[in-house]
Parts: sequence; C-alpha cells; structure tokens
Amino acid sequence: MQKLAHTKIIATIGPSTWDDGVLLEMIDNGLQMARINASFADFNELERVSEQFRRIAPKVAIMLDTMGHKIRVTGFEEERVLKEEDKIVLIPETKTESPAGTIQITYPDLHKYVNKNNKILIDDGNIVLVVEGIKAKEVHCKVKIGGVLKKRKTVNVPNVHLDFPTLPEKDVHDIRYAVEHNFDYIAASFIRNVEDVEAVRKEMGETDTKLIAKIEDTEGVEKFDEILEVVDGIMVARGDMGVELPLEVVPIKQKQFIQKCRMAGKLVIVATQMLESMRENHRPTRAEVSDVANAVMDGTDAMMLSAESSTGKYPLEAVTVMNTIAKEAEKALKPQAVTGRTDASEETDAMCSTLVHLVETLGLKGIVVISQTGKTVRSISRHRLKVPIWNVSNNVKLIRQTSLFRGVVGIYVKQIETDRDKLTAKVAEIVYSQGLLDINDKIAIISGSSIKKKKLNSILEIAQVKDLLD
Ligand code: PGA
Ligand code: MN
Repeated sequence: MQKLAHTKIIATIGPSTWDDGVLLEMIDNGLQMARINASFADFNELERVSEQFRRIAPKVAIMLDTMGHKIRVTGFEEERVLKEEDKIVLIPETKTESPAGTIQITYPDLHKYVNKNNKILIDDGNIVLVVEGIKAKEVHCKVKIGGVLKKRKTVNVPNVHLDFPTLPEKDVHDIRYAVEHNFDYIAASFIRNVEDVEAVRKEMGETDTKLIAKIEDTEGVEKFDEILEVVDGIMVARGDMGVELPLEVVPIKQKQFIQKCRMAGKLVIVATQMLESMRENHRPTRAEVSDVANAVMDGTDAMMLSAESSTGKYPLEAVTVMNTIAKEAEKALKPQAVTGRTDASEETDAMCSTLVHLVETLGLKGIVVISQTGKTVRSISRHRLKVPIWNVSNNVKLIRQTSLFRGVVGIYVKQIETDRDKLTAKVAEIVYSQGLLDINDKIAIISGSSIKKKKLNSILEIAQVKDLLD
C-alpha cells in the first residue's frame, strides 16, 4: 500500500520543529519541503535551519519565504486598546516612544498614497481604521472596528498601490544567502507585477534556484497571468489574500490559479490555515479536513502548513493527517487532463498528453522519466495521473525541486548511462527493488534517444517489468 499521497506537503519550520527526531518523522510521513519564513526567522535561524536540513535530510527541499514589504505597527511594547470611534493618527517610525493618540508604522510614505475613506486593516483585519484626512506625514484615522492592539502586528491597505522603491535590506541579504547555499526555492512575498519579480530575480542572479511568486493582494490577483509567465511557480497566499480581498473571493481564485498553473506546467502551492485549529488540538475540524481534501481535488501540487508546524503543538500530527486526507481524496479522483503549453517542446507536451489514455487503457503502474531538466516530468505531472512518475536523474537539486510536483518521486542515480537499454534496466531494478512494482506490471519509460544530435528525440516506451529486469 502506497504510504505517501501524490499531493506534496510543505511545512514551516519554527520552535515546534527544531528537533531532528520530529523532523525525521515528519519527513517519513510526507514532508517534502521545509519553509523558512524570513518574517520571523532572523539570519542566524535561516542559516541554522537550512544547515540542519542538509545534514539530516539532503533529499528534502528547502524554501526561503522572504519577508517582503510587510508593514507593521511599531514604537510601543504594552498592548493598547482601540475603541470604536476613537481617533488615532498613524505616523512614520521614529525610533522613540509614540506620543499618545498616535501609532507608528514601519512604512514612511503612507500619507502619499491613501485618501479619505480608505480602509486600513491591522492584525489581519481584526482592527479596522478609516482614513479621515492627511496632514503632512500624518494619516488621521477613526477606529471603525476596535480591539486589543499588540506590538508588531501587520498593517494592510487594501486596493491601494503603495510604492516600495527597493527590496528591503533583509530580503536582499536572505535571497543572496539562499542562492549561495543552494536553496531549492525562493518564495517572494507580495508579488504584484512583473517588475516585482524582476527585482527579486536581479538579486538572485544566474542560478538554478527556482522562484515562486506569492499572490497576496488585488494587484497580484489582477496581474496573475503576466506574473505566472515569468516565475517557476505560484503560492496561493490565502492569509493576506483574505485580508486584501473579500474573503469569499479566495476559494474561487484558488481554483482558477491552480488550473492556470497546471496548464503552464508550473508549481502551485495552497497556503495558510489549512489545519489552523491543530495549533492547539490534536485533531482538525471537519471544515479543515474539507479544505485540505478540496485543495487536492482542485488539483494543487502542494499544500503548506504555517503556524501549525512552526509554533503549533502538533506538527507531526498535522503532516500525518494532511497526508491521510490527501490520499483519501486522491482515491476518489480521475486523472484530470489539461490543455495549454508548458515550457517543454510542443512534441513533448503532446507525447505526455497521450499518457492520460495509455495509463488507463493499458493499466500502467508508473512512468519512468529520465530527465536532465525536469520539463518532461512537469508536462506529465500536470495531468494528475493516478500513478507515480519516477524522475530519474543524477542531479540532486533537480530531484528535490521536481519532487514538489504532484505524483513525482525522485530516483537518484550516480551516473546516467549513455546506453539506453542498460539505463532502463538499471532504473527498473531500482524501482522494482523498492517494492513498488511487480514483475508483471507494465510501465512507461520516457528518455532521450540515442540519435544524439537531434533536438526532438524523446522516446516513449511501454514495457513489462520482467522484460526489463532480464
Ligand atoms: P505569510 O504568507 O504567511 O508570509 O503571510 C502566506 C499568506 O499570506 O497566506
Ligand atoms: Mn502573506
């Protein structure tokens, strides 16, 4: 019985998951990528956690999630109570205690961009302010929905384009570290347009580290298509999206974005509050189980845990339950063929589409792909077939990266044999010896042909395992 779901699991690493033993068990139960959230992790933590992962699990991918342009309240320690109808003035950070009636924020230019009646949301929308007027650099507001304001809470200004001329210094530093240390993915926060992507790419330089755009606000949602073209994957960042956009829009966007990513053969991750109650409880709510199952049915590649695994009480249980729910949901699904073009060649895309039928009519048990770039693997994965795609490569980083795609399982070989028959025999032996196949099973094998100088030279072969083992 297959232990791990085809849908992949990403977990944010934090105090709850700093222990080697816990992490190894999480990996055993489906954890495919560690996310280091730079909004909370300082540089030392970034270094320590990434080194820990490379030491205990070199096959598990690592992702830096950048801090991005997150605005926060600052300048006070003790929590404050904001009451409805109170007047409050937002001012730029001063490094000294805020005078009474004012709250400092970490963005100095808010006065330039907001207008009367704009809403300002604090602490993920738990506190709502309305702008009443601007005086020099002061933004005068009235409290519309009050609450207890704790230090360093976030500030969102929905539907207002704020200018951030450069990447925060911390992001630049973290991105460079991630690239230099072979991180597999960088997820860039608050990507709103192609220019935002370019700014991150510029810091990344020439690299094989992949870039994921987190779509978190109205502008990012509106410019999704252009953004998708220039990145390697998308995170449906439901946390901020649910503050910046009406909440009821989020599930629709989730479905649409997953579909578009699949058509393009790019990675898609559904994030935030998937098993939120498991921060405190060892069992999820019915609604959370439904949310996870529906993300799987929508066809996502991967699902992400945030506070559940970083500061929650049950990180291992959260991964385990996510894997169990995904496996069950996958059982109920049929392959979901998609159209559209990936970045593989037209011939590769067309050949991979035929697998949807071949797997079903011939009862194939898996697909072996011998791959140097991962393009063929992604072109197959997007159809969400119900059998594993074994990605054979001698490139560990490529294996880690493609293992995030749905249904893809990496198989490392030290050397890619030039003799195709020898190579397929070796691969069949590896897969067979892992107990994943029986000798009568039929599989598909895709590889380059021996006609070397041809550009379009993929071979699709159907074979029975026993013939390959001979
Ligand atoms: P965050 O991003 O956890 O860094 O805020 C994810 C989200 O907004 O959903
Ligand atoms: Mn966010």
